[in-house]
Amino acid sequence: MADSDTGRQALSTIIDNNLGVFTDGRATTGQGPALDLIAPANGELIGTINEASEDQLDAAVASARRTFREASWAEDGDQRVQVLRRLADLVIDNAEQIAYLDGIEAGKVFAGSVAEDVEDVAANLRYCADLISRDDGRHLQGPDGWGWVRSVPIGIVGAILPWNYPIAMLGWKVAPALAAGNAMIIKPSEDSTLSALHFAGLAKEAGVPDGLFHVLIGTGANIGAVMGLHPDIDVLTFTGSGPVGRSFLESSARSNLKKVSLELGGRAAYIVDAEFASDFDAIAADIAGAAFGTSGQNCTAASRVIVVGDDDARFDEFRTALISAAEAVTVGDPFADGTDIGPVINVKARDRITAWVDEAVGKGARILNTRAEVPTAGTWYPPTVIEGVPDDSELGRGEIFGPLTQLLRRSTRAEAVAAINDEPFGLASSVWCEDLGTAKWWADRIRVGTLAINGYSEGTAATPFGGHRQSGFWGRDNGPEALDTYQETMTVWIAPN
Ligand code: NAD
Repeated sequence: MADSDTGRQALSTIIDNNLGVFTDGRATTGQGPALDLIAPANGELIGTINEASEDQLDAAVASARRTFREASWAEDGDQRVQVLRRLADLVIDNAEQIAYLDGIEAGKVFAGSVAEDVEDVAANLRYCADLISRDDGRHLQGPDGWGWVRSVPIGIVGAILPWNYPIAMLGWKVAPALAAGNAMIIKPSEDSTLSALHFAGLAKEAGVPDGLFHVLIGTGANIGAVMGLHPDIDVLTFTGSGPVGRSFLESSARSNLKKVSLELGGRAAYIVDAEFASDFDAIAADIAGAAFGTSGQNCTAASRVIVVGDDDARFDEFRTALISAAEAVTVGDPFADGTDIGPVINVKARDRITAWVDEAVGKGARILNTRAEVPTAGTWYPPTVIEGVPDDSELGRGEIFGPLTQLLRRSTRAEAVAAINDEPFGLASSVWCEDLGTAKWWADRIRVGTLAINGYSEGTAATPFGGHRQSGFWGRDNGPEALDTYQETMTVWIAPN
């Protein structure tokens, strides 16, 4: 069992003092409605804290604008590099507290959060610090002078976050936005508020100027929608569902034409090219990690597995391997040693997953594995492998966002490519194919934001992440491309005297 004394302390600091807002360099109480925080692992009340009010949001934006104009942050790249590096160290020092808060509130597996999510935040902060430490723009000579093409911060960045990777998604936005020299207003999901509030204290400790970085908790309707329409937020960066993402495009048009960057959902397919795939057990284990990790609540989760080839015996062999891999997943207490996956986020999510599976089964789909017993208290769903899902069901079209994968079969590679490229989603995909030439054939044809070959991956802090088609709109997280979301290009033309 993870030792989480410091985590419990971080939790009680926020809950006992009702600190749902971090603004002007200090934690304070929200003046909006009360928000109950429910632990998905057991359904119990973690505590109640007040959301921010609209007035508090307005005051935070005004303070961010003032600080952006008056502090040296926007112009002093060296200061930003030093602060971001210090912040990365503090995040690592606080790994246990952060992972504890995400474990309690979002059901994230503690050990995985420490090893992956928290590390990812630090890696992003360090990567972005390195990026800007090398950036001096572009210089060019003209007939009547010389030009300096430079990147400047846009101003006030609003970030609206999801709950599935609370601290990692925050890191994906904060690192490039702060590195680029902006001020920030962050609204975490109402289902995962705590680690962002804790992080805000670390940002102050690292030296982010008071007034530059604000975290306000609130629901999408109360605070998120108001941020979308706010006349003085310059960039809105969002990770979440398609319908909410679309609403920000509309809000932008109705307010100040703020720039909107959307990272939306996916329905990733994992292709097993049976002609060039040898170790089915290893491949199935990799797929189980990709499909069931974080209880499948991952926009790149392998929610479909497509086996390519005509050999019935090989298909049956793969099906058996996939079933075994699903049955080997340990579902349980997010804080217990050896747990692979915890609960799903809330009652609404569990009931939707259940309804979608029931509908598909009612229309002829078959559940293939013996499903794990899951606790009755809290919100749980067992790892599920399903076959024969009809196209005209919710599961046949939509993003399941739960611990489930569909097994499909296609005779030809071209049919498998079509199953990916003809979808409105285009976030990520994986192909298992041990022949290099054929792997390139796949890479030349599949069109998604991230294609992983021979092993599920989303890349690193240095590789851009985002969706093609309706999985995204403008901008990328990670990589040098992430800075583009938070900077404007400006040409300075200097004429000789
Ligand atoms: P969601 O869209 O319901 O909520 C995301 C955020 O938007 C939350 O902070 C929420 O409070 C806010 N919000 C909700 N309604 C709003 C409204 N009307 N106006 C303004 N803000 C509003 O999504 P979710 O359920 O938190 O996250 C799951 C979704 O996120 C999935 O679709 C998943 O694929 C997607 N996701 C995408 C990525 C990616 O990088 N592409 C990563 C993680 C999650």
